[in-house]
Amino acid sequence: MNDARSASDATTGISGTTYDLIVVGGGTAGMTAAAIAGRKNANVLIIDAADRLGGTLWLSTGQVSAAGTKLQKSRGINDTPEAHFEDIMRISRGTADADIVKLAVDNAAPTFDWLCDSGFQPIEGHPVMGQGHEYYSERRYYWGKDNGVTIYETLNKMLSPEIARGVVKVLYNTRAQSLIQHSDGRVTGVVARDASGQTHRYHGKAVLLTTGGYASNGEMFKKFTGRTQHGRMAYHASQGDGLTMAQAAGAGLQGQDKYISGLGAIMVDDDVPSTAIGRFCHWPEQRQPWEVYVNANAERWIAEDNPSVDAREHELLKQPELRWWIILDDAILRESPVPITGWDRERYLAAFDVQNLFYKADTIEALAKATGLDPKALAATIADYNAGQKSGKDKMGRKHMPKPIAKAPFYAIRHQGFSVSSTVGVTINTNLQVTRQDGSVIPGLYAAGEVIGSGLLMGKSFCGGMLVMPAITFGKMIGERVRQLA
Ligand SMILES: Cc1cc2nc3c(=O)[nH]c(=O)nc-3n(C[C@H](O)[C@H](O)[C@H](O)COP(=O)(O)OP(=O)(O)OC[C@H]3O[C@@H](n4cnc5c(N)ncnc54)[C@H](O)[C@@H]3O)c2cc1C
Repeated sequence: MNDARSASDATTGISGTTYDLIVVGGGTAGMTAAAIAGRKNANVLIIDAADRLGGTLWLSTGQVSAAGTKLQKSRGINDTPEAHFEDIMRISRGTADADIVKLAVDNAAPTFDWLCDSGFQPIEGHPVMGQGHEYYSERRYYWGKDNGVTIYETLNKMLSPEIARGVVKVLYNTRAQSLIQHSDGRVTGVVARDASGQTHRYHGKAVLLTTGGYASNGEMFKKFTGRTQHGRMAYHASQGDGLTMAQAAGAGLQGQDKYISGLGAIMVDDDVPSTAIGRFCHWPEQRQPWEVYVNANAERWIAEDNPSVDAREHELLKQPELRWWIILDDAILRESPVPITGWDRERYLAAFDVQNLFYKADTIEALAKATGLDPKALAATIADYNAGQKSGKDKMGRKHMPKPIAKAPFYAIRHQGFSVSSTVGVTINTNLQVTRQDGSVIPGLYAAGEVIGSGLLMGKSFCGGMLVMPAITFGKMIGERVRQLA
């Protein structure tokens, strides 16, 4: 019998309070739910493992997508949730969950308008069709000047008054451990440990799991995706606790077949996980490629100027360890636009003398040895590319080939694919109730945000803004329904 099931069905906690809603995790989704529920005078408890609210918003780019917004209308953009839905199904190749996507996009515009009415300001010139991920067919993509922090500030402005007037109570440095569950399956509260190590039981009419994902938990990441988590760029508290607690209470999991890696970054060192020093600009719409990309077998794995980010990500998924090397020569190093965001040419040139995972050698074979690639294979790949460059017929179909890779010294930069979000999540229905694997509802338990997994909202792909926007949208929906949740 797990801790959750052995708990009694007490309706009051040690504080003597039964909350209308216990929000486990005061990040993107949790802050929103608590702010809205608080405005409705509901008695809300936020439990957060960290020493401040905001969660992943402190790190997130905070890009959101919404169709049919007032801002779009003011710019003469005629867009609809239906078109947004179609785009997501196109980009995800039909692998996203149609019902949950529909719920998210149908409610995105009112949520976005509400955010804007509450002070959120997208940067000048927005919305745009895309950046970083596969492009939408319409301009419905927005973010603030300070990325996720701009959203945090907006949510905080709404939540702070509710905390100040005492309807929303916040427990910091308090990590939820398990759910309290009645023998009939209803979730009636949360067991949490405070900073001093003491365990407390908190009781509520409903519990909302908004604990985020598991991208900082390498073990869980490996278990769910079969992949090593190379990036240490997710929020420290994204440990997958919500999935563990929900599973112990009988919840199902979904999304195990939806893993996809981002194209990644240049890491600081060889540690696993590690952080990134920068990102080589591999987006042809921003900078056409001059270099050649090879995999661990020293073979090219993509036409480097393929305009589809999604196609590039799917090809990377087939490459060993999601790792690729960027190969160039001295002429390309000196003549091409500097490819690393925020770097000037001086820093770029110097990196090959001082930076881990940047390599330089007098011959292609020596470069291969320095990087650990097979010398013969790399020499053959480069000779093959050079022949295609000369004839104008690249065997991978690449069109942009300004120069051969021919002038010593030669250079390589190692790039590592990884993800900062979690594909797998708890099973839910369209009321945002957590369900068992057979679809039956676990009464009293709700979920929103990354704890439901990116696989539901984006399938096996990345669709711009489809984590932050649904987290806020679903958090808002829960907050609005706070009186009907029990
Ligand atoms: C670098 C980066 C860039 C990103 N960029 C984008 C983007 O541009 N657009 C987009 O859509 N998505 C983006 N994402 C993803 C997106 O930001 C997240 O999916 C989203 O913010 C998660 O919201 P959430 O409410 O589910 O979780 P979070 O905002 O992470 O909040 C979870 C909260 O739960 C708390 N918590 C965790 N475990 C416990 C526990 N056991 N007990 C109590 N509290 C707990 C945490 O401390 C945290 O405050 C990005 C992510 C990263 C890391």
